[in-house]
Parts: sequence; structure tokens; C-alpha cells
Amino acid sequence: MRLFLALEPPHKLRERLSELAELAQDRCGGRRMPDDSLHLTLAFLGEVAEEQGAALSAWVGERPIPTGEWRLDAWGTFRRPGIVWVGGRSPALERLHESLWAELSAFGFSGRAEHFVPHVTLLRRARQLETRSLPTIDLSWPWRRLSLVRSFTENDGARYETLARSPAA
Ligand code: ATP
Ligand code: MG
Repeated sequence: MRLFLALEPPHKLRERLSELAELAQDRCGGRRMPDDSLHLTLAFLGEVAEEQGAALSAWVGERPIPTGEWRLDAWGTFRRPGIVWVGGRSPALERLHESLWAELSAFGFSGRAEHFVPHVTLLRRARQLETRSLPTIDLSWPWRRLSLVRSFTENDGARYETLARSPAA
């Protein structure tokens, strides 16, 4: 199964991100991420065996993560798959990313990306990667729990299912 560790936005913020995705699509085209798929990926694990998935679920479900608040104040793009995102630099998220990968490595996982750019993908396959005309943003994402998410590949894009959440701190 294809797995990743993520943060899921609080309800109000999800609505705000959805509005921004709509605005961005007007300017940039492409496909919107479904509202219920909006997320921040902290660690992409890729293809994982069934037992390993069960062990990861138990691991995530047992231990609280340090809480924090992410400030999203920037638009960004990734050229290759035509991604338009919102995000912002965050030392607290970098620490969380770092500590998760330290434990994942002990579990035997590799594949940590060289650069961690905290972002929420809003559009894919955008035809226009110009974000200058989009409104300035200043959003707050208070986080409390980590999610282990399974990704299913479907014809019109991936579908996600949350397998486990860390206990509230
Ligand atoms: P699709 O690949 O079908 O377009 P998707 O990218 O939403 O859909 P996945 O590829 O399963 O679904 O990725 C799940 C999450 O992990 C997404 O946030 C994606 O950006 C991220 N991700 C995927 N591959 C990597 C990778 N090699 N390194 C870091 N993050 C990744
Ligand atoms: Mg992908």
C-alpha cells in the first residue's frame, strides 16, 4: 500500500484553502485538489508491505506529536507537475519533519526528500504558473495530530484514506 504521513487542516482552514483553490484555478487553470484531500505531507513513504503498514498505524496511533502553529503566507509553484500551492517556512515543521524521519529511519524507511518545502497543493496540471495576481495570504494552521494516510491511485487522481491519527496532545 502507498502511504504518507501528513497533517490535515482544521475545518475552517480547509474551507479557506478551498476558496483559495477556486481563485487560483480561475487564474491558472488546472485541476483543483478535492477539498477533502487538502493536506500537508510530512513524509512520503511510498509502497509499504501490509505488516509494515499495520506497524506504522500502531506507531502513529500511540504517540502524540508536539503541537504547533503553521503560518501560511506564500504562494508557490512546482513546475514539473504544474503544481500551485500555498505554504510558508516553519522551523517548527522542519523540526517535526526531522524527528519523524529520524524515527522512520530506525524503522528502516528511506526516501526522505532532499528539501522539505512545507506546502499544501491546491492545483495540479496548472497551465499557468503565475501567482503574482493572486491575493496575499496570511493563514494560521494550528496542528495537534499526525495522520497516516493511504493513497489509492484512481483514473482522475489519487484518493486518500486516513488509517491512523496520533492521540491529541
Ligand atoms: P498522483 O501522484 O496520483 O497525482 P498524489 O500526488 O496526490 O496523486 P501520491 O503520489 O500518493 O498522491 O502522494 C501523496 C502525497 O505525498 C502528496 O502530498 C505528494 O505530493 C507527496 N509525495 C508523493 N511523492 C513524493 C516524493 N517522492 N517525495 C515527497 N513527497 C511526495
Ligand atoms: Mg504523486
